[in-house]
Amino acid sequence: MLRTKNLAAVLAGVLLAVLAAGCGREGSPPVKGPKAGALPRYTVDTDFRLPESKTWVEAEKRGYLVVGAKEDQPYLGEKDPATGVYSGFDIEIARMMAASLGFEPDTISFRTIASANRETALQNGQIDYYVGTYTINDMRKKLVGFAGPYYMAGQGLLVRSDENDIKGPQDLAGKTVCSAAGSTPYQRIAADYPDADLVAYDTYSICVDNLLTFQVDAVTTDDAILLGFAAKAPDEMKVVGKPFSEEPYGIGVPRGDNALRLALDDALEANEKNGNWKKAFEATLGLSGVPAPTPPPIDRYPAN
Ligand code: GLU
Repeated sequence: MLRTKNLAAVLAGVLLAVLAAGCGREGSPPVKGPKAGALPRYTVDTDFRLPESKTWVEAEKRGYLVVGAKEDQPYLGEKDPATGVYSGFDIEIARMMAASLGFEPDTISFRTIASANRETALQNGQIDYYVGTYTINDMRKKLVGFAGPYYMAGQGLLVRSDENDIKGPQDLAGKTVCSAAGSTPYQRIAADYPDADLVAYDTYSICVDNLLTFQVDAVTTDDAILLGFAAKAPDEMKVVGKPFSEEPYGIGVPRGDNALRLALDDALEANEKNGNWKKAFEATLGLSGVPAPTPPPIDRYPAN
């Protein structure tokens, strides 16, 4: 027991060191972090108007957009604790959408919203739209609207480097698996792998801390998220097996605001065509080792 505890303390130290290195203090450049210079500049459509969208009209009156995001998902949505600046692929998608809606980069206010709170945040008008590894599915479409998809992820497993027993979800019986409350990966394990010992936290970074300190045996969520964590600590963790689901990422909007949803679909399509999507991907998520794929076709579904 003592040995395990000591090892846990050492690993917690390693994690802290890795995180500290990622912060880019003087003399310690960020480990493969997004480089601001490599990010595309999005042309702000200053003539844009969308009077049919209640969300857009209110944001315009307010003078800025409020965008929901994640703050602890490497290369996707990360907040620098020192500066408060958000970065990552989802953040770039949010910025390119803002530019198409006529908002200058300094008129976007990001707000961290956990997986379990996304629908409520959109329903209560706390945010104008949400970009944070948000899977489009029919259940959620009853509560919110989705533009996109803008990326296709798949559920995977993250384990410690020395783990040899877990190669796929079929090996999870009797193992402790961690995921985020309110997420599709959590729901899939609960439904399809009931012999796994499933635990939920608000965020995946808490799950990863628990993996490194031997509190859990695996973390499960989208491969895109897991690869980012693994890329930041490649000696400690690895992603195993093949993706075992399809997770099409959408931009969450208030349900019923079809004008906003379709305007974002147009904006996504335009940015995929003009090369911004690929540039943004390569400067962010691409750094975790994933080559830029062809984005999935946009689904302009009828008002529901
Ligand atoms: N894409 C999955 C979901 O929307 C998992 C990632 C997340 O929790 O944001 O539930």
